[in-house]
Amino acid sequence: MRLPTALLGVAVSAALLVVPQSAQADPADPQPPAVRDFGNGPERNEVAAGLPEQAGTLRAPQAEKRPDPAWPSHGHGYPRQTRLPEPAENPADASIKLGLVPYHAIAPKLNELQRRSDRVSVEVFGRSHQGRDMYLVTVTAPESAAEAREQARMRERIENDPASAARDRALAKRYKAPVFVNANIHGNEWEGTDGVLRTVEELATSTDPAVADLLSKTRLYFNVTANPDGRVLGQRPNGAGFDLNRDFITASQPETRAMRQLMTDTQPVAMVDLHGYVNGTLIEPTTPPHGANYEYDLFIKNTYANGLGMEAAVNGLGYTLEKDGVRPVQIPFRDDPEGWDDWPPIFTPQYAPFHGAVASHTVEIPLRVNNADYTNLPVEELRRRSAINTDVAAAAIRATYTFVHSRHQQLVADQIEVFRRGTAGEPAKEVPLGIVPGFGPEDVYTTTYPRAYVIPAGSGQRSEMAAGRLVDHLIANDVRVERAERSFRVGRTTYPEGSYVVDMRQPKRGLANVMLEPGQDISPRVDAMYDISGWSHALLWGATVEPVDSLRVKADPVKAAAPTGSVPRTFGPLALKVGDAKEVMALNDLLAQGVEVTWGDGGTAVVPASARAAARTAADRYGVAFTPARRSGGTPLTQVRIAAAASADELYTLREMGFSVTPVSTQVLNDGFDWSATDVLFVSSGLNHAQLSPQARTALDAFLTTGGVVTRGGTGTSFNAAAGLLTVTGVAGRSDANGVVRTVVSDGSVGAGSPEHSFVYSPRWFTGLGPEVQVEQAYAAEGPLVSGHWRADQNGMGGPEQARGQAAVVSGRDERGAAVVMFGTEPMFRNHPKGLFPQVARALYWSSSVTGAAVTTP
Ligand SMILES: [Zn+2]
Repeated sequence: MRLPTALLGVAVSAALLVVPQSAQADPADPQPPAVRDFGNGPERNEVAAGLPEQAGTLRAPQAEKRPDPAWPSHGHGYPRQTRLPEPAENPADASIKLGLVPYHAIAPKLNELQRRSDRVSVEVFGRSHQGRDMYLVTVTAPESAAEAREQARMRERIENDPASAARDRALAKRYKAPVFVNANIHGNEWEGTDGVLRTVEELATSTDPAVADLLSKTRLYFNVTANPDGRVLGQRPNGAGFDLNRDFITASQPETRAMRQLMTDTQPVAMVDLHGYVNGTLIEPTTPPHGANYEYDLFIKNTYANGLGMEAAVNGLGYTLEKDGVRPVQIPFRDDPEGWDDWPPIFTPQYAPFHGAVASHTVEIPLRVNNADYTNLPVEELRRRSAINTDVAAAAIRATYTFVHSRHQQLVADQIEVFRRGTAGEPAKEVPLGIVPGFGPEDVYTTTYPRAYVIPAGSGQRSEMAAGRLVDHLIANDVRVERAERSFRVGRTTYPEGSYVVDMRQPKRGLANVMLEPGQDISPRVDAMYDISGWSHALLWGATVEPVDSLRVKADPVKAAAPTGSVPRTFGPLALKVGDAKEVMALNDLLAQGVEVTWGDGGTAVVPASARAAARTAADRYGVAFTPARRSGGTPLTQVRIAAAASADELYTLREMGFSVTPVSTQVLNDGFDWSATDVLFVSSGLNHAQLSPQARTALDAFLTTGGVVTRGGTGTSFNAAAGLLTVTGVAGRSDANGVVRTVVSDGSVGAGSPEHSFVYSPRWFTGLGPEVQVEQAYAAEGPLVSGHWRADQNGMGGPEQARGQAAVVSGRDERGAAVVMFGTEPMFRNHPKGLFPQVARALYWSSSVTGAAVTTP
């Protein structure tokens, strides 16, 4: 069966809709404390070195609690029963209308199942953005502590000594194959959770000898709801407005980090991610393009086989179009040419294979119950649909564990082979055509692994901080990083002592490479992509990363990046150069504490000698290095207060950098917004100038005589024109285009210090520039797209050719004096391009300071 074109269109536009998220902050959004007590740290930031990745974010009011080390076990067998705290009943839980299990009823149910069965273990393994517990259920036959230790040792060997594990015939037999079922990552795709709860209950109470045999040979791990906030609220994203199933490459959210740790620790051979709604039920494997960093030959044969098994199980439920409105299963790999790809590793089933999953699937259950249907359909119809969806989810889970049970030793052997190829540093394998029926040349995607990546030391403070951020991220992803004990040479290049080395001979080299390679321009090979096509931690996170083709170095493994923060021992005023997001955070933190910071030359903040203790705390907390200031003085700086009509990821990123952010929208301004506490208006989403009331326009115009404006994207460009700010003509590239672009930066207030690469989604550029407009950043004249997908439209317009050499970021002052910066790029996209954040910060500081709102003359 072919996927109808209309449905394909839905898939693509749904992907696009993800970008502009609600401009409204959730009222439950916790605010950071204004002043944090971190004590007086040591002179160097040993403290920062011990902090987990992304320490220093101002948005961590809820500690992320991980369980005690459950895997590998330390003296614990199975079951590991814990009594879960039971949340208060919430009659407003969106699940109730559908007749499904509301979030508050999950813990009581799991507590009861633990009492009834020694096959069930439950623990809290993470917390959502809004602080709700995430539950991991492990279903397996009871194990003694010694048996659990043996399982842990085998898991370790599979990852860390795969060649010997492959030779040990007893291992694949004795090892309990781990299976991971992830449910409800999109909060308003509910029934995966209910399918999981039903499955757990069936397995816990079954007297079938086949179930006993299954549980003696497998461990089934269930993440009951991956998005508790979204489940309760009836929304796709989590409480912070993030689509968690786009976050695996970045891991900006606590839920994603918890799932990442879970997959690292459990190392599943197979996984299923339960979504909705596509009728007939959509079961991966996917269409091309296929991710180039997988061991795809091992992946596709198992994933296709389990896909067929799930299809048989779901179709076998007996629901029909005529009787129930349920269409037969569709498998994109088999049934569609393109449009449902596994190119970006931002989705759970596209991330899990890097940790050894050799069968990994998105499953889209059939009958829509969310959005308009949730609101408009009669309750009985919604409940009829949800009951069928629950059956389908349970059938997909049952088919998967049955598949793993039947292919147990082969799946374990294939997982070992994934890690063995990585550890041996073998070249990427080209998948043989016809490995499964229909696998053709259009399915072949490969990459070339370098011998190693080097992240050089001694490239300047900003680069050291960015290196630390990247190294901590790699380590959090279970990628091995080493640090050179002394300087070493590769070809004609000498790398200094302390440089970081990512040796590509390691079990998870696919994950290392997918983050550190520049990526590929896949525009010529496909017309439609489901979501993003470009990303690169090497090009977008601010660090210098160099692939090398040989490696002779004495290096030690590192558990965390080296500390980078320091305060000079000499007394006197201190300088902080604001070039990295961590420096922005440190500066905003000092401003929020009321420290009298001044703004000196060249993007440098000066902290008075009297604030030395606060500077030392900031150095510890953020890893920033203060230097002796040559002179005090400069323009006093105050905290920049932003009114932002922006998407959720932008609000999050602005707050993460420590700016004071008030969300606004057309409605908020029409309701009579008080501009007196705003220095800069940020516009990228949810503000339409034409729909402002006369009073709102008058108030806005008054603000524009004293305040600054920063815009992004189409909404920002329209706002600029309607408000009569800068003289520019905005040109839109193809709306689904996205990726990493090569740019040229100016030495202006915003451009100076920016990386040579940027990120675009629905790229824009600016022509017809008035005399008041400066170009801060331009698309490179040489084919600007480095990696991703960017084609011209049917008329040959809107492609990268047309953008060559055009202005991507501009600044200027309009005739009223308002300082305006316009972005045609996406510098805060999903909190990913961390090296671009300071560019936004510079735009905000500049815009507020030259307009005079945030800076007062001494
Ligand atoms: Zn979904």
